[in-house]
Amino acid sequence: MDLSIGQPHFPVPDAIKAAAKAAIDNDKSGYTVTQGIPQLCEKIGTWVTEQYRQPDRDVIITSGTSGGLLLALLFCVDPGDEVIIFDPYFVAYPPLIALCGGVPVIIDTQPDFRIEIDRVKAAITTRTKVVLFNSPANPSGAVASREVVRDLAALCDRHGVLLISDEIYRVFTFDAPPISPAEYNPNTLVVDGFGKAYGFTGWRLGFTHGPRALIEQLAKLQQFTFVCAPSIAQHAGLAAWDCDVSPMVNDYRRKRDRLVNALRGKYEFTAPGGAFYVYAKPPKGSGSDFVARAIERNLFVIPGNIFSQHDTHFRISFAVKDETLERGIEILLGMVE
Ligand code: PMP
Repeated sequence: MDLSIGQPHFPVPDAIKAAAKAAIDNDKSGYTVTQGIPQLCEKIGTWVTEQYRQPDRDVIITSGTSGGLLLALLFCVDPGDEVIIFDPYFVAYPPLIALCGGVPVIIDTQPDFRIEIDRVKAAITTRTKVVLFNSPANPSGAVASREVVRDLAALCDRHGVLLISDEIYRVFTFDAPPISPAEYNPNTLVVDGFGKAYGFTGWRLGFTHGPRALIEQLAKLQQFTFVCAPSIAQHAGLAAWDCDVSPMVNDYRRKRDRLVNALRGKYEFTAPGGAFYVYAKPPKGSGSDFVARAIERNLFVIPGNIFSQHDTHFRISFAVKDETLERGIEILLGMVE
């Protein structure tokens, strides 16, 4: 039973597949302009304007969310600069920061994954360049409250620190609409993507929006690195943007509820408000020992020590078919009997 994979289980909606096929048939195979095909920039740009009403915000289409993240860190982080991240964090954050010569400064949010603003304030030094924030979060599924988002945005603004908000799980918020720090701090750089929302992680399509001057710099870096986001994916992205993902989100809310109800009282965890993960603590032993025992029972989950400085948890993905989830639950319950 594979409950390890961080990507949707549903097939790409037909309208998006058709748009990708049409792009191939119509020979949309060349380089695109660096910033992205104008139609897609315009579509996303219109939404960004409606959402944020910030005339200075611009958009760049990237090679996945990772592409936007890499461009942003490459541009902003110089050797020795500090980047604040929150433990548990997305696995790629520390290596990406290190790649740019930066130093990850890790703030622990366990046990409930709530960000304490006073601790962020205390961690800011003269070398702090970036706070890298992710809500809904991988691996915890935690969704930051409006107060935390607002206060973090204001704190970064006061200290002149760039806030990068990784909103790749934006559509997967189950209990309340998503909240972006860009609402409160127009200098926020938002990295976002199509892969999780529409089930095409392998097509490598993302977008980043932020202050125009910063987006211009990212475009320069994209020109000499990725060149452009994949052309076929960009054309498919036009259809994706118009696609209603609420049936998928509702399905994942139901799966979240099923998993949370089944594990309640058996494992320690904070119920996720978004993404498609439960980050749980085994009743005894380390996260990695637990995962080794789970694998013996043919259950694949991910040990928490790849997302954390602690080896205390494991990550379950519920982005799977109901049968797979039920079998996984059975094995998990069998492991605490
Ligand atoms: N940020 C987070 C928090 C993620 O979980 C992931 C993918 N697992 C990414 C970024 C990278 O996404 P993409 O595939 O769009 O590059």
